[in-house]
Amino acid sequence: MPALLTVSVTMVLVIVAGTVTLSAQVWCGRAVNSEPLIYRISTTLNYVAYELGVQDMLNNDVVRYAANSWNQAKNSGRLWPVLEKTVVGSYDVLVSIDYGDDADSICSNDSVLGYYDSSEALIAICIPPFEEGYYESAQHVQSTFGHEFGHFLGSGHLSVPSLMYPTDSYSVFGIYAPNSNDKQNLNDLYEPCYGSGGPPMCQWPPYICEMSASGGEPV
Ligand SMILES: [Zn+2]
Repeated sequence: MPALLTVSVTMVLVIVAGTVTLSAQVWCGRAVNSEPLIYRISTTLNYVAYELGVQDMLNNDVVRYAANSWNQAKNSGRLWPVLEKTVVGSYDVLVSIDYGDDADSICSNDSVLGYYDSSEALIAICIPPFEEGYYESAQHVQSTFGHEFGHFLGSGHLSVPSLMYPTDSYSVFGIYAPNSNDKQNLNDLYEPCYGSGGPPMCQWPPYICEMSASGGEPV
């Protein structure tokens, strides 16, 4: 039984261009029609629409649209899990808001729009230090949530036009839902590891398979 490596990563979406590290690792494959991943919306997020200046759209809908954009991209044959909302009970990730008002907050860095923290099972969108009105449209908010859901599903950043572009894909490309690059990348990540036990060895949270020329083995 190979040793398993627990993943604990905080992935952020930034405005300014930064170094993009493309990992040679892939997630262990998960079986098609695997269990849904459950997200829950924090109560504090109920105020986010007003703060963001997009009062015309309930914030819960923005989050739901972001999650459903991945579900719709999934279609038949896609390997990643469905994102499913819950209002009570256990969840795989909490969707919330970070006001960046303490010094060690990721959001206190004024280039960060949102982040996914796997160790906290948290997706958060940053409000300050962006002034009110920064998010000029609901699609812009959806783009940020959708990007972080992409990280939650296991995707890293892509250097091509995509929702997983590292620097605000809505402002740069007008993208607010997964495109063909995002779909292909995520599907590739969920391909079973070659030469290993494949999906039966995998569990959530996903463990990393090291890929090699002769085939990957979970490490
Ligand atoms: Zn990101």
